Amino acid sequence: MCHNVIIMESALKTSVRVRFAPSPTGYPHLGNIRTALFNWLFARHHGGKFILRIEDTDITRKVEGAEGVILDSLRWLGLDWDEGPYFQSQRLHYYHEVANRLLKEDYAYLCYCSTERLAVMRREQMRRKQPPKYDGHCRYLTQQEKLQLEASGIIPVVRFKMPLQGETTFHDLIRGQVTFKNSTLDDLVLLKSDGYPTYHLANIVDDHLMAISHVLRADEWLSSTPRHIVLYQALNWQPPRFAHLPMILGPDRAKLSKRHGATTIVDYKEQGYLPQAMINFLALLGWSLDDRTELLSREELIKHFSLERVSKTAAIFNKRKLEWMNGVYLRQLRPEEFIQQAIPFLDRHLPASVKRPLCSNYIRQIMPLLQERAKTLAEIPQLGSFFFLDELQYDPSLFLSSGLDAKTATQAIEIALRRLKIAGVWDANSLEGILRPLAAELNLSAGKFFGLLRVATTGCTAAPPLFQTMAVLGKERCLKRLTTALQRILTLL
Ligand code: GLU
Repeated sequence: MCHNVIIMESALKTSVRVRFAPSPTGYPHLGNIRTALFNWLFARHHGGKFILRIEDTDITRKVEGAEGVILDSLRWLGLDWDEGPYFQSQRLHYYHEVANRLLKEDYAYLCYCSTERLAVMRREQMRRKQPPKYDGHCRYLTQQEKLQLEASGIIPVVRFKMPLQGETTFHDLIRGQVTFKNSTLDDLVLLKSDGYPTYHLANIVDDHLMAISHVLRADEWLSSTPRHIVLYQALNWQPPRFAHLPMILGPDRAKLSKRHGATTIVDYKEQGYLPQAMINFLALLGWSLDDRTELLSREELIKHFSLERVSKTAAIFNKRKLEWMNGVYLRQLRPEEFIQQAIPFLDRHLPASVKRPLCSNYIRQIMPLLQERAKTLAEIPQLGSFFFLDELQYDPSLFLSSGLDAKTATQAIEIALRRLKIAGVWDANSLEGILRPLAAELNLSAGKFFGLLRVATTGCTAAPPLFQTMAVLGKERCLKRLTTALQRILTLL
């Protein structure tokens, strides 16, 4: 008994074959990659295979360079594939063969309708508020009409003969039982007049030939599935099992778009998100371990991923959560790793006036302070630019932001400058030893006094801890900045 169970389990393990099948009609966005990730996790969880297939048969919508970006995005996230990439444009003979078989077996027919006729038909349907659907004109051509049209030189398309009655039902692994009336299904085009297959034909032929066991895809394909099932039936092929993943919506519950700050995966990379944070975040868009756990490593995700815990309802994209999570993963990096990741961003985004190459010793001292604060790598140059600039630009009124008047602020900086000039050791502890008692001596709250010094030395009201920051800036830089601050504050008197 026990033995049988083991055999059955291992059979499932070797037979799981899933695919990610993007169309290169644009750069991959969050939704595309979430689909890839769920397929990948499912394959890795079951010890199965993850196959990459580029569905590039719509040549009119093909975007130059998109294929490369898709592959790069998967590589960046570590979603490694076991087979492929297969390109459908290189497999046209398979689709032709199947289309011919369907024609021969009377499951399909040639359609000669012109685009003009189809457009008129569509307009008429819209006017009558009917769903757009091919009216079956060429399905019922007489032998004579067929011969005439053939002789006319018009290049036909191949259409599938959808059953006109009955229903098609399938079991979706997430949605449960789904039923469509066959009368709502179109006589869909299988092969276009340019010789390329449509998505539907190429998709099912390849899922069959590649022995795909489970199709995990976006919800928007749900209505294609009954069409695919009918095709599988006509071909006498066993269909794969289907799981339609919940939609991803913005916080306003509208379909996710650029407006919500969601962009292509490449943009996230450029904005300084870490792949491990993206994986964790995307995994939780529609799947959860329980109702609490937010942080899961790649290994934990593989271990726990299951379709049972994919939600039926839409997932909500929350940019804040992604930023928070990325911050968590940034802080988890070893200091050396953080520096390596940050350097390209500093190089690229620090103002041109900052001398290159950046001094690696100085960077090594700065980075631990920023590692605590940064939510993305791209934020680092901005958060830390004051460490590098010769001259800080800021509004002198910032000196008064903590409620000090200009006279008190002037005196406080003057005396701080005097004390700091004679300081011997310049590290965080000694600076605290000088400045904390000075606040008391000046009868100022630590918050106000340190706030003033922070503006003077960094040009910002929020920055990493003051004494550590001043220690890293060094004595010379700090004294120079305090002197400038004094000149600026005098303008307020
Ligand atoms: N090429 C389709 C897409 O871009 C694939 C859909 C499917 O997985 O069947 O989403």
